[in-house]
Amino acid sequence: MELLNLAEAVIAGTLISQAEANELLRTPDSELLTLLSAAEKIKRHFKGNKVKLCGIVNAKSGRCSENCSFCAQSAHHKTDCQVYPLMSEKELVEAAKAAEKNMSATCFSFVTSGKTVHSDFELRTLGSALATITRETKLNRCVSLGTLNLEQIQQLKKFGLKRLHHNLETAESFFPQMCTTHSYSDRVKTIKLAKEAGLEVCSGGIFGIGESDVQRVELAFALREIGVDSVPINILNPIPGTPAAVNHHPMTPFEVLKLVATYRFILPTQDIGIFGGREKALGTLQPMMFIAGANVTLIGNYLTTKGQEPTKDLQMIRELGLEIDV
Ligand code: SF4
Repeated sequence: MELLNLAEAVIAGTLISQAEANELLRTPDSELLTLLSAAEKIKRHFKGNKVKLCGIVNAKSGRCSENCSFCAQSAHHKTDCQVYPLMSEKELVEAAKAAEKNMSATCFSFVTSGKTVHSDFELRTLGSALATITRETKLNRCVSLGTLNLEQIQQLKKFGLKRLHHNLETAESFFPQMCTTHSYSDRVKTIKLAKEAGLEVCSGGIFGIGESDVQRVELAFALREIGVDSVPINILNPIPGTPAAVNHHPMTPFEVLKLVATYRFILPTQDIGIFGGREKALGTLQPMMFIAGANVTLIGNYLTTKGQEPTKDLQMIRELGLEIDV
């Protein structure tokens, strides 16, 4: 089907098939602008010209027991990532308030390294910080704490948690090549528990770690089936010392834009954005991510690497005629 007609069909409620999505991802470079224009049409229909801005803080860094191939924080890899325990409640609250005030963030997430939350003390500290930012900011509250059980999720919800971030990271068929210390189904379980508890779910993945195009589409269909609310797309920024950096085949900016556009076709109503790695992956084409169908991005620094200056991001958004979704 012609791309703009397919976009119209998606707007009218058609769910595209995996075969159609694979074809979209294989769009030739000469047709790139037509693909982006069709994806942008879908985005404009469901999201208008609004952009959401998420901020994060690396609330506890390094020494993770897990062996995710791309991650600087895994104790299995020799990297020079910082190692520190959970920040204090005061530090967590200050980070969230600074993101709202200085970067116009609309959502904020406490992110910790490790398979899970390791003690009641950690859970209480995170909970108290959530309660304070619920009272004192307009931020949407999110956490990314690894695998959690229902009781832990419900406790955090009582403190004001709105959204759980937990990436599937990659397709089920590629997962064992990315990580062997926990399973894809562990991750699905945490997401399902968050939904059961009535939280919004933010879940996406990391791309450029050796997965195929078909597996990139496979992940999007898994996210659609689970019914996540927001989909962060991270592009590998290879960290020396990690296995993923050894055989790194960088994605070209056009490949990244086609990926975002294809995700917009598969997940028309979800929030979609490029988070980690966008500066390196897209270079001067960064503004094009919003033309490709993104309506959210991460502002400020990433977990272990620096992001673009927030003032530059805000300028880019203004120049594109987009509005921050407050
Ligand atoms: S991605 Fe998360 S679970 Fe995997 S190694 Fe890094 S901190 Fe640990």
